[in-house]
Parts: sequence; structure tokens; C-alpha cells
Amino acid sequence: MYSCCNLSLHGICFYQGEIVSCCYAPNDQINGGLPPVLFPDYKGQIIPKEQLFKRMRYFSSQFKNGSCPIECKGCFQIKEADWDESEYIDFITITNFSCCNINCVYCSNNLKPYERSNNHYKVLPFLKYLKDNGVLRQNLEIHVGGGEFSIYSECDAILEEFGVTNFAKIYIATNALHYSESLNRAIKAGSTYVVISLDCGTRKTYKKIKRVDAFDKVVENIHKYAKDTKNIHTLTIKYIIIPGINDNFREFKKFLKIAKSAKYTWVRVDIEGRYLRSVNNNANPIYIKMAKKMIKMAENQGFLSGYHAFLQQAKERKTSFSDIIDFIKLKYFKTGIKKFYTNEKY
Ligand code: SF4
Ligand code: SF4
Repeated sequence: MYSCCNLSLHGICFYQGEIVSCCYAPNDQINGGLPPVLFPDYKGQIIPKEQLFKRMRYFSSQFKNGSCPIECKGCFQIKEADWDESEYIDFITITNFSCCNINCVYCSNNLKPYERSNNHYKVLPFLKYLKDNGVLRQNLEIHVGGGEFSIYSECDAILEEFGVTNFAKIYIATNALHYSESLNRAIKAGSTYVVISLDCGTRKTYKKIKRVDAFDKVVENIHKYAKDTKNIHTLTIKYIIIPGINDNFREFKKFLKIAKSAKYTWVRVDIEGRYLRSVNNNANPIYIKMAKKMIKMAENQGFLSGYHAFLQQAKERKTSFSDIIDFIKLKYFKTGIKKFYTNEKY
């Protein structure tokens, strides 16, 4: 028994220009903090498995010796357990890309150092090498994020290799503007899990949030992905409450109508992360109450529902008079909104 984390022993993450252990770092990555770097200056080359595990052991052995790599200090993934030290990979993150075909007001790629780019190295040759050499555990998790995966150059090939075959559980966020037949096939195969942040129920609000006029196309694609889906957990449609933009029940009811017509099972609600970070997770209680009520509304209509990532971190407290003033300022006067949503024209 010792304190360690699974990812330092069995995880790799394809990052912007390097392979790192994970995409978690105790320091906020928006501020440039990196998790343990396994291979800097990575450009898609095949690294022999012996070399890979030797480098991974450099970090994991620090845990075993009762210490902790400096990059991992304070990480919530560290726990005491009887760790399996055999050499395999069961958790991969692909986040070496930031290309996208829409332009959400809350996208972290709008902020340096995560500028949008189509210029990414290839991951599939190395992934195939790891699979062919028995390094990848069957049923491993592959998490994909960073930009829009459906337009990423290796998207279809990765999904065909790992998703359609059910070799891995693949977790993907997509905006659903580009329809991918391979993604559809992987969803139907049953172990690819997709989250689509629609965040609205009308074309007008969609344009405000996503800054492209593509509401109808996205809803059409949502229907295609949802049709005949057998695993009730594979599809989630998400509503991120964005202060001053979609923070009302009228919009949410229309959103639920779309979810219903697409026969979605999961509806998740969140509070926008950039806003939440700017108030140090101390969200205005009005938004938390709103999110809770939205979840209830979804459940009453037969959906599985719940909070998504950011909302789980929000602290709960009583609504004060100044919270009401803040809410009115944001909602009706858009005061301070530019602070959270750069490049937005109000
Ligand atoms: S402890 Fe945290 S930062 Fe370190 S490898 Fe594990 S998940 Fe990554
Ligand atoms: S879909 Fe994702 S990557 Fe694209 S702009 Fe929105 S948040 Fe950013």
C-alpha cells in the first residue's frame, strides 16, 4: 500500500507538443502548469515500449519511495492503494489538437496559450504499435478533447480501430456540427460515450453562444446520432448555464423538447467554467438553484440527469441581497460579461 495515482503507472496523454502522464495538473493549466512530462518535443514518432515504461517509472517510483513528483503535488487523483505495477496502459488522453468549426464564447481555446490550430502530430501509428505489442489493455479508456474531434484528421480512423470494434471505451465531446459516420457507428457499437453541449433550444441563442448559424444542422445531426442507440448511457446532451446569455427556464424548456425528440437518455446541466473560475468556484446561488431546478425538470420528463463537471465544484450558500444585484447586472445589463467571455460583442 502506498500513495500514488493510476495515471502515473498506466496512463499517457498526447498533449500539444509532448506526451505527458495525464491531463490533470494541480496547477491550473490555463496558467501554464503541466503534469509530468514523459517525452518533450513529441511529433508522433513510435517510442519503444521499454523506453516508454522506463520514463513512466521515473515518476511512479517517486510515489513508491514515499515521495511525490513536484508536478503532482496536491493532485486529487492521488490515493492510497495496493498498486498494480505491471506494465500496461489503460488510460489514454488525446488532446493534441485545438481545431474547431464553431466559436463558443466560453471556449478555453480563445485564451492563450491554447490558440486554435490545425497543426497537430499524428497519434494513430503509436497507438497501433502499442495495441499490436500488447501494451493496451482491452477496455481501456480513451478520452478525447481539446478541439472538435469530428474534424480532427485521425478521428474516423481512431474510432474505427478502437470504438467500432469495442476495443476501448471512448469518451468524446463533440459540437455535432460535422456528422461523422464513424462516430455514429462507434456510438451504435455501444462503448463510445458522447457529450454534446447544445446549451440552448433556439437558433437565436445558439448563434449568440456558438457564434455560427448552425442550429438546425446540429439538431439534425443529434437526431442521427440518437437514432436506434441501444446503450442508454452513450449519449448525453448538455446545457451549460452561461450568465447573461441562456440563464432562463424558457430556453431550457425548448432545449428539453429537442432532447426529447432525439430520445436522449442523459441530460446534464452545468455552470459555465470560465465564470465559475473567475468567482473562485463561489457561484451566485441563483445559478445553482437554477441548475438544480433544471435537473428536476429533466428528471420529471423521464431523463437521467445530473450535474456536469464544473457544477460539482461549486460551493453552495444562501442567496444574499448582493447576489440578487449581481444576477440582475449580469442578466439585464451584461455588466462584467466581457470579463468572462473574450471576443464577445455585446
Ligand atoms: S498525480 Fe495527478 S498530475 Fe500526477 S500523474 Fe497522477 S493524475 Fe497526473
Ligand atoms: S465546440 Fe468545444 S472546441 Fe469548439 S469552440 Fe466550442 S468549446 Fe471550443
